[in-house]
Amino acid sequence: MQPFGEIADRVWVARYEAYDVNVTLVEGEAGLLVVDTRASLDEGRAVLADLRRLSSRPLVAVVNTHEHFDHTFGNEAFVEERAVPVIAHETAAAHMRASVPADTTFSSVTAVDLGDRAVELVHPGRGHTGGDLVVRLGDADVLLAGDLVEESGMPSYGDDSYPLEWPWSLDLVLELVGPDTVVVPGHGAPVGRDFVQDQRSAIGVVAQTIRDLAARGVPVDQALGTTEWPYPKEHLADAVRRGYEQLPRSEKRLPLA
Ligand SMILES: [Zn+2]
Repeated sequence: MQPFGEIADRVWVARYEAYDVNVTLVEGEAGLLVVDTRASLDEGRAVLADLRRLSSRPLVAVVNTHEHFDHTFGNEAFVEERAVPVIAHETAAAHMRASVPADTTFSSVTAVDLGDRAVELVHPGRGHTGGDLVVRLGDADVLLAGDLVEESGMPSYGDDSYPLEWPWSLDLVLELVGPDTVVVPGHGAPVGRDFVQDQRSAIGVVAQTIRDLAARGVPVDQALGTTEWPYPKEHLADAVRRGYEQLPRSEKRLPLA
């Protein structure tokens, strides 16, 4: 079965069952761009086989939305087939393992020329990781958000996340999202602007709650149990720990004895 479905002119998304991860294929006159490559060499090879049944155009580049294994470990299959550039944000590239590296990096904004269409890559700031990027397909009104936006689960706060900055990064993402833009999350079904706005609000509440608790002198190990949160507490331990660590000194109070 062909997992890639066309969501806009020559933009196909495959939502693979393993990790429920999305892989996107963009075609232009110059060739194909693949965004994210799944979690292993074998899974990467499966993506290649699936996309070869869609188009015989040459691969122009691979893009990784961030460094996590479920988005990058399949890179090996693409590099194995042909020496295509693998593009990532410089911070993501610095954290990728040696067998699946990104060899082309940028810090703020860059673009890939597919001939009759340009693909813009934007680092909106830190959030899910330090090196998140979003992919903007202006002519198709599509935005690939990576794990800055998640549909099938709550936003994933790991031990490499930036909980306090994530809302601001989503504000920048929202600047790139119009009323009819199709936003493809890292995991789950495509969404629209309202969904991204709602997720930004909830992520903003997490950040503000961390700031408020720290300003009141609530110790980090009591923060989760002290108040209500927009997401289940058991998934916010890293968010709170990282948030406390990343607060400027001026916003912290010594815990009351
Ligand atoms: Zn991730």
